[in-house]
Amino acid sequence: MPYPVVHVLFFVFCINAVAVYVTVRSLFRRELSFRGSMNLLLLLSVGSLCALLPDIMIVYNLPVNGTIEHCWIGAVPTHSLLFSFPAILFGIIAGYAIYRKVSKALYLGLFAEAAFLSHLLLDDISEGGCEYFYPIYNRTISIFSMMDVSFRGTGLFHYLTVSFVSVFFICAVIMMALFALSKYGFEFKYRPEK
Ligand SMILES: [Zn+2]
Repeated sequence: MPYPVVHVLFFVFCINAVAVYVTVRSLFRRELSFRGSMNLLLLLSVGSLCALLPDIMIVYNLPVNGTIEHCWIGAVPTHSLLFSFPAILFGIIAGYAIYRKVSKALYLGLFAEAAFLSHLLLDDISEGGCEYFYPIYNRTISIFSMMDVSFRGTGLFHYLTVSFVSVFFICAVIMMALFALSKYGFEFKYRPEK
């Protein structure tokens, strides 16, 4: 189990890398406005909290039961897409409370989801999988182990499908964050060559 600080750092510097790059560049150019700083602070706060949300039960289990069991709330695994709904909801409510705009709220909800999923990806790498699709599929799945499939044993079609699905899942998490960040002013742009 990676420690909380690793989850936050992974989200901020890997999934959120565009915002880090744009912020550093803007600071050197003295372009970062007060509004931009507030946007960044909000994104980092919501993102960091949601990147830690799957391990929320440790806050209860450690002082109350004296254990570091943290992956379940009753029968529901916290490391699942189902449990990401509270993260989306938190992002939407926080966004609406601050900006009073539905579009901004939805993009912050999307950003919160990307942060939550970054936690699952990191746990997937270190622990060998998560119950992503509970309750449709109750077993642990490892996106990264899926990439290790060989077409000799399973056939070319299975090999291509698994390769595409596993890479696309990771790509989708990064794209969610990029899309949400662009709506808050943090983006790269294509610059035509002269
Ligand atoms: Zn975890």
